Amino acid sequence: MREKKEKKIVFIDMDGVLVDFKGQMELFYTRDPSLKNGYPDKPDEIPDIFKDPQPVEGAVEAVKKLHRSENFELFIATTTPWDNPDASSHKRLWIETHFGDLFRKKMFITHRKDLLRGDYLIDDRLANGAAEFKGELLSFGWAYEDEKWNQYRTWDDILKKLLPGIT
Ligand SMILES: [Mg+2]
Repeated sequence: MREKKEKKIVFIDMDGVLVDFKGQMELFYTRDPSLKNGYPDKPDEIPDIFKDPQPVEGAVEAVKKLHRSENFELFIATTTPWDNPDASSHKRLWIETHFGDLFRKKMFITHRKDLLRGDYLIDDRLANGAAEFKGELLSFGWAYEDEKWNQYRTWDDILKKLLPGIT
């Protein structure tokens, strides 16, 4: 009997990794400049801001590629703003819009990513427990708090790491 391949568990953050939150924020500010004053430090509490943002370049295809490889079990690991409860359902629907059933019932909404058990976490920030994740943190994209690029700048870099020799 063929042995079942052990899949690596990968958690994927949303904002700044799958979702172009920065672009969405800029779009909302362009449409309504008064939002800048209304939500100065809390753009994630702007009503409907999580409803229909664009995906990060290459994210959707790259995630589908990881899925097709059958090497990984993929999960969403996202923190949603506590004081903007609509964000959770908007994020859940965004996932379905862009990935169909790929993440069906595979979504963790948490402020404690350090408690997740798995092999990799792809995240653009160290906050909400990401820095203390027990597996390997793959720091992705633009670190807006430090204003520098993280180690894995694009989804191509992630694919080179997780599917070496294939991309
Ligand atoms: Mg993020």
